[in-house]
Amino acid sequence: MVASRAARERKAGAEAGPLAKVKIDLADDGQFVYKISCTECAGRGHLKWSAYRPGNDNGFMASMDRWIFHLVEKHPDSDAPCLAYLAAAQQRLHERREQQ
Ligand SMILES: [Zn+2]
Repeated sequence: MVASRAARERKAGAEAGPLAKVKIDLADDGQFVYKISCTECAGRGHLKWSAYRPGNDNGFMASMDRWIFHLVEKHPDSDAPCLAYLAAAQQRLHERREQQ
C-alpha cells in the first residue's frame, strides 16, 4: 500500500526531528521528491541547507541520509529519531562509494 504524500511527509518529519522541515513535491513523472531543510541554519541567516532527492523510497533514504550527516556535523547535540540510523546511513554511503 502506498501511503499518501501527507502521511509520508508527517512520518519523515517525525523521524527527521524538530530541526527539520520536510516537504514532498510531486515530480513531472509522478515520483515523490523529498526536500528536507534545516530550520536552524535557515533561521540564522546562513546559507539554507537542504537535501533534495527525487525518487520514492530511494529518494527518501538518500535525503534522510544527507540530513543525518548534516545533524551530526552541525547540530551534534540535537536529538532526532533518525540519528538511530546513523550507522546504517554511513554504511550506505560507503556502499555508494564502492560502486563508483
Ligand atoms: Zn542545520
